[in-house]
Amino acid sequence: MYFSSILKKLSFDVDMWEPSTEDMKINPDFLAAREDYKGSPNVAGTLKGKGGGRSILLNGHIDVVPGGDNDWNDSPWSGKLEDGKIYGRGACDMKGGIIANVMAVKAIMDSGIQLNGDVIIESVIGEETGGAGTLSAISRGYKADGAIVPEPTDMQLCPVSMGVTWFRIIIKGLAAHGATSYLGVNAINKASMIVQKLNEFEAKRIKEIKHELYKHHPAPFSVNIGIIKGGIFPTSVPDEVIIEGRMSFSPDEEISEARRELENAVYGAAREDGWLKEHMPQIEWYGFCLNSGSVDKEHALVKTIADNYKYVKNDDPNIVGTPWGTDAGALIRYGNTPAVVFGPGPGGTAHKANEYVDVEKLIETTKIIACTILDWCGYEQ
Ligand SMILES: [Zn+2]
Repeated sequence: MYFSSILKKLSFDVDMWEPSTEDMKINPDFLAAREDYKGSPNVAGTLKGKGGGRSILLNGHIDVVPGGDNDWNDSPWSGKLEDGKIYGRGACDMKGGIIANVMAVKAIMDSGIQLNGDVIIESVIGEETGGAGTLSAISRGYKADGAIVPEPTDMQLCPVSMGVTWFRIIIKGLAAHGATSYLGVNAINKASMIVQKLNEFEAKRIKEIKHELYKHHPAPFSVNIGIIKGGIFPTSVPDEVIIEGRMSFSPDEEISEARRELENAVYGAAREDGWLKEHMPQIEWYGFCLNSGSVDKEHALVKTIADNYKYVKNDDPNIVGTPWGTDAGALIRYGNTPAVVFGPGPGGTAHKANEYVDVEKLIETTKIIACTILDWCGYEQ
């Protein structure tokens, strides 16, 4: 409601709706985190241009990861401004970016400039859980000639977003009394073989999968084991272990291909074990999945942002791939909208205690987005 009132004040034509699960069908790999989206509306505002210009879509996700109140110097919801930093959960990921989008348009309107192309500003839900909001907005028809997603890239220009998909591996053993463990099969021991295989698989991917825009990144396409659960009692042989983790993949790989590689690694290890080959681990792709997306780094939108970066910062931007999945992937793949990720930072504080956005970067990002809108959409004074 608050966001729609801001857009209304700026004369945007405002649309607010609750996404439906039907909307997600445009992405066959979408994994539903929720049964419905009641009480979690998307907002999209359209500002019609005079005509004859390119349209731009400014996307930002309104949802945040949990506050996690341990280790914060203040409340995660304080919004405190101190030493040129605004603190709070979501400050850089990505309320900062959303406000840069709004303020960029406001600055243009306050200058009395009328744009030729349309501007769409979106506040979408559910990015942290797989991008439901952006998929819904695409299904509702929101597309443009170009899009900016101001995730906290530390003002690096990212025409490429990597893909991310979560996995779950269920490994079965055979329960027994710990005193007669030879009568059972210890699922933790079997899981440790799978863990070792996943580590080898990750090392191989990091070594072999190269991408021009990830040269700076020491290990972009990683396989992280985040959770391992197994066993119920010290004197029992555990009969089940569940491993859960996150796999990232290159924009040059198809998601199905990346998943198949992990499955082959796990099944391959299992086939070498007498028990596991008869009791194959079960692999599920669950929870979170953001597909990759890629815009040519010579694309006009990348050039326009880079030119304005130079105008504002008197320097050339770093052009790299994002270190995470973003909604740009969906905009590119399912919305037919070339999308570039470019926002303030520091991104390194996202999802942690004492998250903040740097005010100077926020202002510079706003200027660069404003100048980009002018050049992209065209205008008359
Ligand atoms: Zn984010």
